[in-house]
Formats: sequence, C-alpha cells, structure tokens
Amino acid sequence: MSSNEQVLTQIWSEAENDLKTMVGEKSVKAWISKLGVIGCDDGILKLSAPSNFVRDNVLSRFSTEIISVINSYGCNVKFLNIEVYDCNNQDVVANSTDDQEDVKSISVLDKRFTFENFVVGKPNEFAYAAAIRVAEADTPQFNPLFLYGGVGLGKTHLMHAIAWHVMKVHKKKKVIYISAEKFMYLFIKSLRFKDTMSFKEMFRNVDILMIDDVQFIGGKDTTQEEFFHTFNDLVDNNRQIVLSADKSPSDLEGVEDRLKSRLGWGLVADVHPTSYELRLGILQAKSKQYKMSIPGDVLEFLAFKITSNIRELEGALNRVVAHVTLIGRDITITVAQEVLSDLLRSNEKFITVELIQRRVCEFYSVKLSDLNSPKRQKAIATARQVAMYLCKELTTKSLADIGRSFGGRDHTTVVHAIRKMKDFIKRDKMFAADFEILTKSFEN
Ligand code: ADP
Ligand code: MG
Repeated sequence: MSSNEQVLTQIWSEAENDLKTMVGEKSVKAWISKLGVIGCDDGILKLSAPSNFVRDNVLSRFSTEIISVINSYGCNVKFLNIEVYDCNNQDVVANSTDDQEDVKSISVLDKRFTFENFVVGKPNEFAYAAAIRVAEADTPQFNPLFLYGGVGLGKTHLMHAIAWHVMKVHKKKKVIYISAEKFMYLFIKSLRFKDTMSFKEMFRNVDILMIDDVQFIGGKDTTQEEFFHTFNDLVDNNRQIVLSADKSPSDLEGVEDRLKSRLGWGLVADVHPTSYELRLGILQAKSKQYKMSIPGDVLEFLAFKITSNIRELEGALNRVVAHVTLIGRDITITVAQEVLSDLLRSNEKFITVELIQRRVCEFYSVKLSDLNSPKRQKAIATARQVAMYLCKELTTKSLADIGRSFGGRDHTTVVHAIRKMKDFIKRDKMFAADFEILTKSFEN
C-alpha cells in the first residue's frame, strides 16, 4: 500500500464514524461499512462494494453525505465511483456454521491493528503485556483477560492484535472476535428462529473467544444468562476468553453480581488515559508509517493539544497529512491549527479560565479572591502571571478576554505576563519545573 492509499484508508475509517452522526448508525452498518476505499484521483473517489445492490443504494442515498464528510478531511472529491467486486472474504476467522453472513461480520479484523503497530507506553504497558502473554501461550493464562478503559485507548486494537498473532503462530486454533452487540444480536436471532443449538455450537468450538465492549450486555437478562453459560462452558473446557469494556467488572451497570464477580476472576487490566509521551510516540510511529516527514514541533503541538483519546489523535494527524498530500502545503503549526480548529476547540472545552485560576491558586497557596484583586504582593503577582500564561496556552480565549477574567485587567497586562513567564522559564530551572507540573496537570 502506498502512503497515500494508507492515508486515504485512515480517512475513510474516520469518515465512516462521522457518517454515523449524519445518516445514522444503522445505515452506516447496513451499507457504508460494506464499502472499501480504492483511491482518489482527479476529484473522483473510487470505492468498492460487494454487490450491485449495495452500490446502487449507496449512490442513490448517501453520495452527498459521503462526499461532504470526505472533503472535511481536506480532500476535494466531486464524484463517487463504486466498483463491484467478488466478495472473497479473506478476513474471516470463524468457521463451521451455515450462517455465512453472520460469520463474516463476526470476525472481520482490522489489518492495521497488530502488535507491531501498537505503541507501548506507561498507560498501556500492562494491558499490552497481558495481551501478548495470551496471544503467545498454548494454554489459557488468565481466564478471562478483562481489558477495560475509556474509548479510543486501544482495547479493540489489542484484541485484534491477539487474533492476528494467534492466527500466525497457532494456525490450527480457532479464534472468534465479536462485539457484544453482535453476540446479543446473534443470540436473539437464534431464539427467534428456535436455533439456539447452532448458536451455542458456534462458540463452544472455539479456542479463544474475544468479546468486545461487554458493557452492552448490561440490562439484557436473557443474553447475560446465555453469555454466562457460554463463558462457563469455555472456561471448563480450558479455552481462553478475552473481554473488553469501558468499565471494570465491578463497575459494570445492569450486570448480575455473580457474573460481575466471575468476570473479575482472571486478570483485570486497565488501559489508562494517554500521557503526552505516549501520544507523541504514536504520532511519530504513524507519520513514519505514512512515510511523511512532519516537523517535530507540529507533532509535539498535536500531542499537547489533542488529549482526549488516540482515535481523535489519529484523526487529527490524518487530517493534517491529508492536507499536505492533497493540497501540497507544507505543514506548520499554523496550518495544523487551521485544519484542526474544530477539534482543538472540542479538546479545550474542559479547560476553562476558572479551572486554571483555581488550580494555580492551589499550587501557589494563593486565594482566588486575591488573584483577581488589585493586590501586587510578589506571590500573588507571580501566581496571576502564571495563570494568565496558562490561559493563553491552554484556551482559545483572546488576550482581552483573559485580562477581563483577572479582575478586569487590560490586555497589555496579559502580554506583559506572557513575556515575563517565557523569560522566567528560560532562566529559572526550578520555576520551569513547577510550570511543567502545572501544565501537565491539565492533560486529560
Ligand atoms: P477502544 O477499543 O479502546 O475504543 P481502539 O482500539 O479502537 O480503542 O483504538 C482507537 C484507535 O487508536 C485505533 O485506530 C487504534 O489503532 C489506535 N491506537 C490505540 N492505541 C494505540 C497504540 N498504543 N498504538 C498505536 N495505535 C493505537
Ligand atoms: Mg473498541
């Protein structure tokens, strides 16, 4: 795959997500997720579809939306061209069931989600080590391995990586990766068609069963029951189970106590929110994959600003890269700022002037009322200047706004504070270290 194609593939997967809000999750699942991206040339986006039926439906119902979402990533698409290909389903891992259509969607794995492509850092090293252990072992290690953490932090990536690795190293083993939603859907469908036997068979013959996002099972009593049985059967037969969720087993809502406690029996590994170092590492790895040389200061800027999760971070990098590839402009921090203005705003929304003021006051043991008063004692003045500088760095507020929020001061006072702080940071190591600690405290 050329780096351009790789960028396009990445953009496409982002776009699929965006389209959910535009045309609804169901339509994306039913139609758009069936498409593949081939290339983009001369304003024509080439896609592939598994049948004429899908192609015609997509063209008549979603072309405008697809084009507008793709263009929001800096592309300049005017038309869609959808080719129909023969669906020869290479990614299927599961086998031995008649319900071909369902099997296909059970185990389609993302080619990019491998251990090699997973950047390891403090926040995820434990989960990574556990995943590797499970993937390499001949027999179940911890049953289950329960991965949990916030969205976009790499849980699905690790599960797919386990599957890829097992398929490479233990070719005979049967692996199933399935979302909890799909699991429920298949189960309910089997109830409706009075065919729970084949549902059970499908899962009972498996060496490694991975169920993603099990928080969705909460509240669904019959599915929980079935899940519990399947789970116990597999464990009794010495098969490995890997689960993921957005919460730890004990915090899962609407899940029966006995199931909760059973889920916590094995190894529970949480994926922590990202750190600056991990984010920078991921950006460096991705830009290397794209064979793009992106200036270090731009990567640092992105790692500093996009703190929400790795999915958004990748999205940000893709947009910047797309701009460069498609528009041919050099990347600078200013360009990145322009291209990502909406994303930067949404990542900032939790850092307010007030939050900064409160935290700085705590740090320097100064009263908030003093910070916004005319007082000029050294400790208070320093805290005020630090807070002003942080407001400039971490929010999108104008200098005038910042000044006003500090007891109605003028913007020139803010300019002066910023200059003074920059100078201080350069000259005073102790101060610089304090400042860094404070800045870091606003990440995530
Ligand atoms: P989750 O399942 O926790 O919501 P995903 O596994 O879908 O998150 O990850 C979101 C995106 O971030 C994916 O594209 C994934 O490849 C990427 N990603 C997550 N963690 C890492 C990592 N440590 N190194 C490289 N890419 C990562
Ligand atoms: Mg996931």
